[in-house]
Amino acid sequence: MDVNEKDTQVVYLDYNATSLIKPEVVKEMTSLLSLAGNPSSVHQFGRGARDVIETSRDRVANMIGSQPDEIIFTGGGTESNNMALFGSGRKRIVLSVIEHPSILEAAKSMLKYEGQGERSIEFVSVDENGVVDPSSVEKAIGSDGENVLVSIMLANNETGVIQPIHEIASLVKDRGALIHCDAVQAPGRIPLDVKMLGIDLLSISAHKFGGPKGVGALFISDNITLNPLVTGGGQERGLRPGTENVIGIAGFGIAADLVGQDLQNVGHIAKLRDSLENKLCSLEPKVRVFSKDAKRLPNTTCLSMPGVQSEMQVMGLDLAGVAVSAGSACSSGKVEPSHVLAALGLPSEDVGCAIRISFGWGSKKSDVEKLVSVWQAFYAGLSTRYSN
Ligand code: PLP
Repeated sequence: MDVNEKDTQVVYLDYNATSLIKPEVVKEMTSLLSLAGNPSSVHQFGRGARDVIETSRDRVANMIGSQPDEIIFTGGGTESNNMALFGSGRKRIVLSVIEHPSILEAAKSMLKYEGQGERSIEFVSVDENGVVDPSSVEKAIGSDGENVLVSIMLANNETGVIQPIHEIASLVKDRGALIHCDAVQAPGRIPLDVKMLGIDLLSISAHKFGGPKGVGALFISDNITLNPLVTGGGQERGLRPGTENVIGIAGFGIAADLVGQDLQNVGHIAKLRDSLENKLCSLEPKVRVFSKDAKRLPNTTCLSMPGVQSEMQVMGLDLAGVAVSAGSACSSGKVEPSHVLAALGLPSEDVGCAIRISFGWGSKKSDVEKLVSVWQAFYAGLSTRYSN
């Protein structure tokens, strides 16, 4: 379904799962559909395709404050995260417990395939707001920093909580360890500059900020050497062999160029989010907004509607024309209890009743109004049913 055109009555508030693609991106990608030439070919067709890739590399580098040759195009955030973890060759991996499954599962499979003796994982917990304490990262690194890769996300996809990455990165560097940051939820929501953050490796994904799905990048600081996940040709400096997804990369570049507009609009987005939270909390005082006191992405709220399972809420709201999510999107369509909310030490009743609402470039005041009225009707309907 194309929410942009199909049905203006449908309200899309699931930008953290995937943003609506921007019209400028669609236009660029459509215009390139019949582009000939393999970017590795030396003839003019190949050079044309190569130009598209290199222009996008410049645009993506510009978005995160890196040099273009520090950008490796990948198949998205999951692949970038796996590449960072597997490719670093570091024996010990320090992670927070609230990382995305593409980090947690990658780390676990490293142990499985490379042996417990070869590699180890150290988990760092979070406080009741979901924030990592930099000193706990420092402690987890210990005295052999040169064997350690630390991977901490910039902003959590479920709660929107922003981690003190700059502070963490400086402690990590002091100990001689490497720092990778999953910044998939950051572009267009908060400013992002790899040099200012002091990061060695950083993952981004185009579809989270108006670009196409299935294309992302790993920033690799120019002083870092990484091993490839797959082998083959020499594309992307041999780190990501295989003929490039030229059209996807082109769309990624346009989305990166447009991120500045989103950043100018974050005040409006934050107001929508805040007014939604205020309205729901005043309608039903039992509503609980998670991590409200932490520094959060301006577009994200994660809250619980007491007594109603997340899955039921998502389906009820969907039937009424509002798309939200139950914690993180899951490829199987099955909703598992959130490991992120569990890590905040919340009671399981709250965790099981949580929904995530995430705004983006197409969000409007009327979306909040519709969600609030649908929510109110849905909740009232349930209360009547249960009281009868
Ligand atoms: N990291 C975070 C924080 C995410 O939210 C996601 C997507 O949900 C990913 C990684 C994976 O990105 P992709 O969908 O591009 O593989």
